[in-house]
Amino acid sequence: MRSPADFVGVSGADPHVHARVGCDSNAVTHEADVVVVGAGLSGLIAARTLLAAGLRPLVLEADNRVGGRILTEEVLPGLPVEIGAQWIGDTHHRMFALADELGVPTFPQYEDGETSYELVGSGVLRENDFHTRFADELAELDRVLRVLDELAAEVPPEAPWRAPRAAEWDAITAGAWYDGQGLSPVARTLLEICTVGILAVPTVEVSFLHLLFTIQTCGVTAELFAESEGGAQTTRFVGGTGEIPRRLAALLTAHLVLDAPVQLIEHGPGGVTVHCRGGVAARARRVIVAISPTLAGRIMYDPPLPGRRDQLTQRLPNAAAMKAFFVYDEPFWRAEGLNGQLISDVGPARMSNDTCLPDDGRGVLLLFLEGEQARVYGALPEVERRAALTAELVRHFGSRAARPEAYVDGEWSERPWTRGCYNANCGPLVWTSYGSALAEPIGVIHWASTDTATRWSAYMEGAVEAGERAARAVIAELS
Ligand SMILES: Cc1cc2nc3c(=O)[nH]c(=O)nc-3n(C[C@H](O)[C@H](O)[C@H](O)COP(=O)(O)OP(=O)(O)OC[C@H]3O[C@@H](n4cnc5c(N)ncnc54)[C@H](O)[C@@H]3O)c2cc1C
Repeated sequence: MRSPADFVGVSGADPHVHARVGCDSNAVTHEADVVVVGAGLSGLIAARTLLAAGLRPLVLEADNRVGGRILTEEVLPGLPVEIGAQWIGDTHHRMFALADELGVPTFPQYEDGETSYELVGSGVLRENDFHTRFADELAELDRVLRVLDELAAEVPPEAPWRAPRAAEWDAITAGAWYDGQGLSPVARTLLEICTVGILAVPTVEVSFLHLLFTIQTCGVTAELFAESEGGAQTTRFVGGTGEIPRRLAALLTAHLVLDAPVQLIEHGPGGVTVHCRGGVAARARRVIVAISPTLAGRIMYDPPLPGRRDQLTQRLPNAAAMKAFFVYDEPFWRAEGLNGQLISDVGPARMSNDTCLPDDGRGVLLLFLEGEQARVYGALPEVERRAALTAELVRHFGSRAARPEAYVDGEWSERPWTRGCYNANCGPLVWTSYGSALAEPIGVIHWASTDTATRWSAYMEGAVEAGERAARAVIAELS
């Protein structure tokens, strides 16, 4: 074990040493086979898999709660809303199995009625009118989505940099590729809104290869963008998604430490010592770091990690999204034949959803702020953000929308242990230059988190896949 003095400029030749000033290096307080950093879904699944294999995991969680990007809060008594992850889709097989195993029932997303559109100066139009008026533009959009599906099929999700045209696709942004398709303003705008709704950054910030990777990890664009029949948002959990990490954590109580932000990982062939702010230090044979890459890059490693890994984590910023919920005495829009969804380029929200609970008379509308909208409106005082969102709801759903009983929203870049969502964004040339450093273990250090998944990366499904993958690799090494 090193003393704190070892980290304060003793080895002046190593610039990393100076970076360690102020970092706790504690006496060992815990012993385990495997330390898991982060009690998000990925870390909890990794720990559970290790435990089932007869190993002793220890999960170190920085926050005072489990769940990470999954966060359910009661906005009114008996009315939980999901500030973080909310839905699963028909092909999220791991999540369906997990919910079943943990005894969390599911229910379908409400979708009866028309969507309300407001695009490129058309004013507010109901779905049927919009589809009639812009049938040609929607056909254009469909054509481009089919091309995207064909191109995405060429991208191997476990190694996107090996796609035959990886160099070409990684050198341009998704936005540049979209701009080159000769689309009408309506089709181009819809494509932007759909994509930002998934990636939570403007398409000019996203590598085209990353967009294709994202489509490929989810199946096809229809699964990614659609809300029904195979989309990513068909199904919800009774009690909210927070039930999943809560029940997982209950199975792991003896193996979980909260309020333990990992600051320093000493590692070598003999194992790791993981130091937290506040005094906890755990020695183990392996560590699984189950946090987003950009946060993993803020932990100090001794010895320092290879340059490629650090260059990668310097280039994977978390995107920006937030959700805002309005609660009403009843879902009044349903009586008007509306499904609570809006699609708008006027904003501030680009999309909304009906997120009422079945067997609960109250009405809940959810508005999404993503990419630039999250950055701009997330920086405003809540009262201003709420006023702008209310005005938008009134345009689409009428004056009753101005009289909610409750309001709550959730900003994620302010949360120190998340720093943005939904996941890590990949700009141009990141996959092809550094992609192989994303999930590849470094000695005794393994990487999880949804951002490292090859199926439904960015989603809860991906978090489970990544946690299982990292745990299986560790089990194989230790057995
Ligand atoms: C607003 C929002 C909406 C979403 N909607 C959906 C949806 O509808 N469907 C869906 O499938 N997915 C959705 N997602 C994505 C989903 O939440 C994530 O894919 C998933 O929860 C990620 O889990 P994870 O374990 O990989 O990472 P995280 O949840 O980020 O977990 C990482 C954990 O590590 C902790 N941590 C961070 N740094 C440290 C440190 N230094 N030391 C110790 N602990 C640390 C964090 O506190 C956190 O608990 C949404 C996310 C957000 C934020």
